[in-house]
Amino acid sequence: MRRPIIAANWKMNCTTGQANELVNNFKALVTQVTEVDIVLAPPFTALATVGQLISGSNIALAAQNMYWEESGAYTGEVSPGMLIDIGCKYVIIGHSERRAYFGETDETVNKKIKKALEHNLTPIVCVGESLAQRENNETQAVVVLQIRRGLQGLTSEQMQKIVLAYEPIWAIGTGKTATPEQANDVHHFIRRKLAGIFDEATASAVRIQYGGSVKPASVDELMAQSDIDGALVGGAALKADSFARIVKFEA
Ligand code: PEP
Repeated sequence: MRRPIIAANWKMNCTTGQANELVNNFKALVTQVTEVDIVLAPPFTALATVGQLISGSNIALAAQNMYWEESGAYTGEVSPGMLIDIGCKYVIIGHSERRAYFGETDETVNKKIKKALEHNLTPIVCVGESLAQRENNETQAVVVLQIRRGLQGLTSEQMQKIVLAYEPIWAIGTGKTATPEQANDVHHFIRRKLAGIFDEATASAVRIQYGGSVKPASVDELMAQSDIDGALVGGAALKADSFARIVKFEA
């Protein structure tokens, strides 16, 4: 079976002081959790603080983005080596907010995935359709294109090191969650595509998170679905008790 993975995307929230309080409260609530990979992705400015607070615990550190070069004249960017240096194990790549506001494309996603893997950083790769695309029945076409282009040139072995996150854009930060069945249908579709692009073993090994307004009240039903292996959580991860309840889902 695939090991569940629940990740918090703090987005552009939390000073170091706020991070300190949030992580200390959260950590105390999840010390007994051993069956779930727990990941926190604070903003770059809080990585060091959070990394120190969770050192030696059952919680891993992630960045929300990275650049695909090792170093050099790339003002404002952060390299995979820098993320490893500060203790990151994961990096979110291709979040829909980065695609919408910062020019991220499937091609840049592909470059970032390859460079992250070179550094043994686990990419959490986001895909998902807009509301208009869903209403036009384009969900599958959009997601398959993001997968084909974003994952282009990867070996099966590399693919098995990646976590995918299906995040319908219309459900992110809106309070609208895809129904568990809607989400699972897309997860199942993605897994069938992975079987075609790679192979059956890869398709059944890859973990696919759902993201989009996951809350304590919705997580159990989502996690009970056959092809949903975890959650990527924004808003509800900014409160220690609500994120702890999500991590302690009952499926
Ligand atoms: C996200 O940031 O990836 C996300 C799913 O946010 P929210 O849970 O707030 O919808």
